[in-house]
Amino acid sequence: MTTYRGRIAPSPTGYLHIGHAITFWRAQERAEQNGGTLVLRIEDLDTARCRPEFRDAIIEDLRWFGLRWAEGPDIDGSFGPYVQSERRALYLAAWKKLRDAALIYPCSCSRQDVLQSAGAPHHENEEPVYPGTCRPPNGTVSDLDSPAGHHWRFRVPGGEALHFIDNRLGPQRAIAGVDFGDFIVWRKDDVPAYQLAVVVDDAAMQITEVARGADLLLSTFRQLLIYRALGLSVPEFFHTELITDSAGLRLAKRHASLSLRELRNAGANADQLRARYLSS
Ligand code: GLU
Repeated sequence: MTTYRGRIAPSPTGYLHIGHAITFWRAQERAEQNGGTLVLRIEDLDTARCRPEFRDAIIEDLRWFGLRWAEGPDIDGSFGPYVQSERRALYLAAWKKLRDAALIYPCSCSRQDVLQSAGAPHHENEEPVYPGTCRPPNGTVSDLDSPAGHHWRFRVPGGEALHFIDNRLGPQRAIAGVDFGDFIVWRKDDVPAYQLAVVVDDAAMQITEVARGADLLLSTFRQLLIYRALGLSVPEFFHTELITDSAGLRLAKRHASLSLRELRNAGANADQLRARYLSS
């Protein structure tokens, strides 16, 4: 029998927000209910947005909120390093594999180009479907030997229906090329994109269930394609509820007053916060 391994994966782009903390709490509950291990991984690949001081603050705030992990950058474990900026060699190996399989291609379109040439996105907060401007004929293997200097897009199998069973929401389905298009796996500024890094790490850290916010449901389908392309076994998924404020608006990082740090400085207590946000 496989032992449950879950993870929490904050990005140190600012102080931890109550919305993230609740998602991580759910991930901890899943690990506890399944008698498993919880791993902390710091997702700091976006060097322009991530700052080392936020990493330390996040660890401190997570502990204050009542989260406990068995492996992480502050504890270590057998699957380290637990900080993405120290795992580049793994992402590069995956990039090479995808390139050799003709499943990715370099793209010179700017975000603006894509926005202008494509129709409106189907889903809130989603990028529009890539119109295929730079997509070469099937089977074209790029002869570039380094990803730097271009965006690299994953060639999605247009029209294929993708499925998975979410452990909270039940059966989920999306159509590649319709619900989402060719997506970026490596950025022009030489940063591996979230979709690639998260799959490489969840597989390498032998995560058995990914528990994270339901805002990432559509990303899960992209990631299913990467698992398949890299020949990696797919974990289970549990997408958690999104926390909204009293007006029904989604809590997001921009509500600075809802950072754990500010709540704590204003005298909030972790038990009360959990009771308030978890019961609603
Ligand atoms: N670092 C990502 C975030 O903070 C993690 C997403 C995930 O759990 O896959 O949104």
